Amino acid sequence: MKPFEQWRTGPGELSCRTVGKTIQAYLDNESDPALRDRMAEHLDDCAKCGLDAEVLRRIKRSLEGGRQDLDPRSVDRLRQFVEDLDHPG
Ligand SMILES: [Zn+2]
Repeated sequence: MKPFEQWRTGPGELSCRTVGKTIQAYLDNESDPALRDRMAEHLDDCAKCGLDAEVLRRIKRSLEGGRQDLDPRSVDRLRQFVEDLDHPG
């Protein structure tokens, strides 16, 4: 009996949903080391999540660089861009 097989994508594969939920921790270096490898793999393979990670990374870098005056509208535009990729049309 493998009750979780139905919602798991595979032993080594992460779903985009899982990546989306854990990407903040991943970028903060707070995620499980075992998960990190799988995250990195997914971000390499998946254009959507890869871009998502890149956007979040840039936002993070801007904030860490002391630029507290980052225009929230710019962040919104970036997020919208990523969401549009997720739902083309
Ligand atoms: Zn993905």
